[in-house]
Amino acid sequence: MDERRLPAGSQQFVALAVKLAVENVDRGQRPYGAVVVRDGEVIGEGVNTVLRDGDPTAHAETEAVRQACQRTGSRDLSEAYVASSCKPCEMCQAVTRLARIDLVLYAGLSGGGPDLPDLAVLSAPDPSAQEPFARFALLELPMLD
Ligand SMILES: [Zn+2]
Repeated sequence: MDERRLPAGSQQFVALAVKLAVENVDRGQRPYGAVVVRDGEVIGEGVNTVLRDGDPTAHAETEAVRQACQRTGSRDLSEAYVASSCKPCEMCQAVTRLARIDLVLYAGLSGGGPDLPDLAVLSAPDPSAQEPFARFALLELPMLD
């Protein structure tokens, strides 16, 4: 169990990511959405457009990080975190790491519903780790009251 505090409002941003995912399904796309959040504001937003674009890399988290970098004019998003509708794949984990994001929150699998999903945390690897994903830790967190 991770005892550290989650960023204020983070559950709402995960809920927003889930909402984006649901809306994406309504457009005939895959059920994945993500936002990049810094100082309590969304600075990047993305949905999976693999089917629409025929681009196997058009994942929600990658698109959200790309938009955040474009909006901020920086590849360094170390003050931000990602809220996602599900656990990011290895590519998206690598993308968040390249953008120096060290916290990814995503909707858990056990209930919560689309309005306020359970949260899980994908915490940062040790920057000195040689294996890209060896230090990622998946931690399930209970719903906050
Ligand atoms: Zn991905």
